[in-house]
Amino acid sequence: MRQQEDRQREDRVEGGDRGRVVAQEREHALDDAEDGEAAGEEERQPRQPREEGEHDEHHREHPQQVAEDRVSVEAGRAEDAEAGQEELNDDYDEEEPGAADVGDSEEALPLAGLVHGGNRTPSASGYRARVAIATGRDYGLFIGGVLAEPASGEVRELIEPASGEPLARAAMAGPEDVDRAVAAARAALDGAWGKTPPAERSRLLHALADALLANRSELAELETRNAGKPIASTRGEVAGTAEVLRYYAGAVSSIEGKANAYGSSFLFYALKEPVGVCAQIVPWNYPLLMAGWKLGPALAAGCPVVLKPDPQTPLTALRLAELAAEAGFPAGAINVIPAEGPTTGAYLVSHPGVDKVAFTGSTRTGAEIMRLCADGIKRLTLELGGKSPNVVFADASLGEVVPASTYAFCAGAGQSCECRSRLLVEKPVYDQVVAGLADAAGRVKVGDPLDPETQVGSLISARHRERVHGFVESGREEGAEVVSGGEIPPGKGAFYPPTVLAHVDNRMTVAQEEVFGPVVAVIPFEDEDEAVRIANDTRYGLYATVWTSDPGRGHRLAQRLKAGQVAINTPYTTRPGVPFGGYKQSGFGRELALETIESYLETKSVLVGIGTKPANPYGL
Ligand code: NAD
Repeated sequence: MRQQEDRQREDRVEGGDRGRVVAQEREHALDDAEDGEAAGEEERQPRQPREEGEHDEHHREHPQQVAEDRVSVEAGRAEDAEAGQEELNDDYDEEEPGAADVGDSEEALPLAGLVHGGNRTPSASGYRARVAIATGRDYGLFIGGVLAEPASGEVRELIEPASGEPLARAAMAGPEDVDRAVAAARAALDGAWGKTPPAERSRLLHALADALLANRSELAELETRNAGKPIASTRGEVAGTAEVLRYYAGAVSSIEGKANAYGSSFLFYALKEPVGVCAQIVPWNYPLLMAGWKLGPALAAGCPVVLKPDPQTPLTALRLAELAAEAGFPAGAINVIPAEGPTTGAYLVSHPGVDKVAFTGSTRTGAEIMRLCADGIKRLTLELGGKSPNVVFADASLGEVVPASTYAFCAGAGQSCECRSRLLVEKPVYDQVVAGLADAAGRVKVGDPLDPETQVGSLISARHRERVHGFVESGREEGAEVVSGGEIPPGKGAFYPPTVLAHVDNRMTVAQEEVFGPVVAVIPFEDEDEAVRIANDTRYGLYATVWTSDPGRGHRLAQRLKAGQVAINTPYTTRPGVPFGGYKQSGFGRELALETIESYLETKSVLVGIGTKPANPYGL
């Protein structure tokens, strides 16, 4: 039913309103060119929608741009054709038979070392030459409803991880910019945003979701080029971000205080108030989606936000802020200031004007942020790292287990907090699963992330790849056997093949540390008790997956595993409305849930004397 509704909504965007979508895509391409010139402006007002005729005029002057834009839209429609490829887009699959032909005639770009999986040819990366709509502009900070020059003066050249080529220039905030953003947020809370009633907040969240979908191709490409993620994934992530915003748009109506009589002496009622100015800090692995997870509940609660993306991946969050301004969010409700974490990020967390901090990132940084929050007794929620087990019993359907487990460690190139990076397999089927996994891992399509066939794109940077490879090497040194992958491919781009390590002991470094790459450690176990012991033998507790044909065992494991979420017989993970968060050092607080909104609210109790208890307790 939900899929049907999604389909209808997609049809509205991609079908009925197609003319509008194409027009908007064209507009952005043209604006991007103009923005290059406007980069030096002190502050730029959000774009105003143009009249239809104006688009046509522009396009008569730029016929080649029109053709490229059309290709980008056509290509974008094909990107989700691979059903089930990406957990976050499995509800948003679009089928576009034949669309995968786009790009066949293009000459391959020289991205050496991208061919993996045996069924790819380099010509597939012809997409690279044809879908360039989002690059070549300067991105300012987004403060008080406008793009702004950084007081810090720092503008950083961003490098596309899949090609190693320059991508765009983005301003980086310094302390003075933090002061400006926090002041803008405070002014919004005291002004228009603070006065925006719940129904209007809900409408604005829906309007932002609409805007994301209307600009889906642009945002997906921007994310793909900035973070190296496959376009099929980023298409799903844009839709997933819209879905999260819609969830919170609906959840606005859940905000209500209790009221009751307290005996015959008092009435009591509770007011729910926004907690105040929120600093939200997100990592580079799902830049737009994490922004949506964070913004949705804060905005639903009526809080203004200062969002700090990772300095490597600020682009989609900045576009989201622009789209939010166009959708009608008051100035200062959403501020986006990309910046270095240990310096400017820490300054933001410590800022006396910030009331609540929400952080997604590594456990180490989470601990530091907790220390910084202590002084101001700031409200804090932490979504941190994971080393999630994927537990396979011998009675499971191995035909499903092998491809699903491959997906579970390769999604997002393993750069996912819930990556099932430890595969625990019952001994009787251990060799069979390892052999199947090695084969499946070798068939995963690794390559140009702009190619809609690609399943695993680039890692975030060559530096991060060195770190990932270091963990694989440590596994080798400690006695594990690499049965697939495990070597850095030649050529440009930070690619790394899906890598399977067999005969791993859970005490090895590669089984304890968060690798954050497409690497799985396969560990044997004897029986249910040992499976639980090994699965829980980690400082993390974010996610776990169990495969068994015994329903009782599945539910027993769900109770015994120390993780914020347990999946039984499915590799998929996050969904709006399904609380997501950590046990142990994976953090505290839950995302994607009604209780998330609670973490952005204060409860104020009001006690009213109704006259039966004398107001003179001392008898004076
Ligand atoms: P990271 O902790 O290095 O950085 C995350 C963010 O924090 C970035 O924006 C960074 O600039 C900022 N930052 C760094 N030091 C800071 C400081 N002292 N003060 C304020 N901000 C600071 O993490 P990463 O390597 O970018 O991201 C990967 C990590 O994120 C992994 O551990 C992953 O598991 C985790 N993650 C968790 C979830 C979840 O929901 N649990 C989701 C995605 C990612």
